[in-house]
Amino acid sequence: MEMATLILNSGQCSWGKCIFCGYGKIYKKRTNKELREILDKFFAGINTGDNEDKKIKIFGSGSFFDEKQIPKEIFEYFVEKCRENKISEIYVESRPEFITKEKILCLKETKAEINIAIGLESASDRILKTINKGFKVKDFEKSANLIHSLNCKVRTYLLVNLPVKNRKAELEKSVNYALNFSDSIVLINLLPHENSEIFDLWIKGEWKFLNKEEFFGAVNNWKNNEKIELDAETFKFIPRFRDTKILDGVGEEFLTHPYFEVWQDYLQRWYKKQANKDIVLFLPCSAKKPYSESETHKKILDVLRMLDRDKYNSIHHVMISNPGVIPREFENFPFNAYNWDEKLENEFIKKRYIEVTKERIRAYLKSQKYNEFFVF
Ligand code: SF4
Repeated sequence: MEMATLILNSGQCSWGKCIFCGYGKIYKKRTNKELREILDKFFAGINTGDNEDKKIKIFGSGSFFDEKQIPKEIFEYFVEKCRENKISEIYVESRPEFITKEKILCLKETKAEINIAIGLESASDRILKTINKGFKVKDFEKSANLIHSLNCKVRTYLLVNLPVKNRKAELEKSVNYALNFSDSIVLINLLPHENSEIFDLWIKGEWKFLNKEEFFGAVNNWKNNEKIELDAETFKFIPRFRDTKILDGVGEEFLTHPYFEVWQDYLQRWYKKQANKDIVLFLPCSAKKPYSESETHKKILDVLRMLDRDKYNSIHHVMISNPGVIPREFENFPFNAYNWDEKLENEFIKKRYIEVTKERIRAYLKSQKYNEFFVF
């Protein structure tokens, strides 16, 4: 069978300070009763034929071995469920400080092959300090040796494109190091979680995510290595901001505001429109937000709805405004929280508006494939 995956968010990562991680800061309180119910539902869903291999992965933000997140009683219940369901392979994640002989032996009672994943991220103590990982390479090594001594497997996560110097050489060193201590490695494309310091670096223009092509280029050396998996998108990446302030005004500050800039970067280098939307219709913005609630857009939408259904669905509405190009599906924050009063424009800002917008439209169209183009 395919690997069955459970996202089991419970409690909060005991560390919660890695600069690239927003999940570790989220506290999701769950009672033991709720956790049992989640596990019951999960195991009921994978209970297929008795002779099939049953593989499971448990993801969570933090450590499966941390009793503050997964209480002892639930850990033991999990082991019991694995045994009952004859699970053949188990993958769990943990920080090194929670990986103990006792926990591993308990998990081994399942009789399954045990894979313990550790987010090492980089094999350099200097880099681990920079990204505030909260442990050192030797801590990873100690845990990896313990796991192997108990005949279990080590899975190591490494991050590609960390905000450090000599990224290429550092990644190479980390992979070579991790190969000595791991049964499998996942090279993860570092994307900015909301609520993380790396997101702020992106907003400040001090770091940029890799698009999928750039990521696969960076990890090309390892694409045929059987021990190494490549993960270009670990979560559904959309820029989200912590604050929701209104960007009200006219001038360069509101034309190339960092929030608008990162959104345009996202739209130009990551976003892909729905495949069936092969006609682009560029529309103006509106003073009332979201745009679709303005009188102008309501009227435009009424006319478009007269088209037959397939035609209507194939039209992609893309607004043009001072924040840039804005596909209809993103008309909420920050694109519902700005005002640009044309009466306050001067010749200089009009010129800049045209320059900046022209470039944004050009870059957007280069990144998408439309068959027809219309402008309102
Ligand atoms: S990356 Fe892992 S260890 Fe670091 S804060 Fe996030 S959940 Fe915690």
